[in-house]
Amino acid sequence: MKHVKLHIPGPVEVSDKTFRAFCSPMIGHRGQGFKDLYAKIQPQLQSLLSTRQLVYLSTSSAWGVMEGAIRNLVTKKVLNCMCGAFSDKWLDVSTRCGKQAEGLQAPWGSPIRAEAIEKKLATGAFDALTLIHNETSTGTMSPLAEIAELKKKFPDVLFIVDAVSSMTAVPLDFDALGIDVLLAGTQKAFAMPPGLTVFTCSEAALKKASTVKDRGYYFDFVEFQKNAAESMTPSTPSIGHVYALASKLEDMFAEGLAARYARHLSLARKTRAWAANHGFNLFPDAGYESVTLTCVNNGAKPGGRGRAVDVAKLQKLVKDQGILIDGGYGKIKGTTFRISSMGDETEATMDVVYGALDSAMKQL
Ligand SMILES: *Cc1c(COP(=O)(O)O)cnc(C)c1O
Repeated sequence: MKHVKLHIPGPVEVSDKTFRAFCSPMIGHRGQGFKDLYAKIQPQLQSLLSTRQLVYLSTSSAWGVMEGAIRNLVTKKVLNCMCGAFSDKWLDVSTRCGKQAEGLQAPWGSPIRAEAIEKKLATGAFDALTLIHNETSTGTMSPLAEIAELKKKFPDVLFIVDAVSSMTAVPLDFDALGIDVLLAGTQKAFAMPPGLTVFTCSEAALKKASTVKDRGYYFDFVEFQKNAAESMTPSTPSIGHVYALASKLEDMFAEGLAARYARHLSLARKTRAWAANHGFNLFPDAGYESVTLTCVNNGAKPGGRGRAVDVAKLQKLVKDQGILIDGGYGKIKGTTFRISSMGDETEATMDVVYGALDSAMKQL
């Protein structure tokens, strides 16, 4: 069957080079070969995240570490900052872990504001907060640097940040931000197969975790630290993923991180321009648009002069040309649609997408 190229916001298209690395012959995870592999990529991961902390590899999708962060770090109460499907879900996950939790809800399409968080933290009720940097369901980026500034006022609150669909596409300087956990699954902006999560923790987070009871084993951050210090993982990792990650990091540093960030911004701008040229407006509030995907408003936000089309039909007409775009997530399915430009996409590959969209629009 002919492969339909993925332009949904995850999983995204995986290159042949990455797949070849993924299919490397198996090695033992306690042997020198694996330790050498992890030790080789550790400084690259640290450089990618601008951190001196060790970067961990979890064989799980992002939710494993998102849940793990709650289990490792929350003893009092967690503030779950919510502005879309993934960030809203984190509140549910916190309570399912048996923790005290409170949601701070922003309307979908709006970012999380530092002022709103500050008001909540000032109550003194919280020892942790969760934030999604790039809310993939709405294509909205929250101002991470402004929010991280709050750490100075509330040093005892642990800041847990999901950068699933932004890590590798924008600079994320973990140590300078002063946050406590930063994580990303690899099937989004890394353009790798799903099943691996990359994350790091502050000293404060590790210290806190070591005092928390019932944090389990598989996602125990203290175990990750102990093992990473020996270039190992607590349990048998998906070794294919680690080979794929090594290959991907090689690509990233060959391109140059600055060039990679510039490429993503430029592709996002082109996609936004495509939407504007066709009479659409965007779903996120102006100034907070994601740089890895474009969430087009298709009537979800009333007002404005935005156009609305039959999204299911548009999606099908594009799919008939071999490209899959997303028809909107959760409660904004059909009233938004999303086009991903994350991972390995270039001007040339995105031009093919705009061409397919143009031709679909003519047939609507
Ligand atoms: C995709 C996504 C997740 C969930 O990832 P899984 O791979 O399903 O665990 C979490 N957060 C964000 C921002 C995402 O885009």
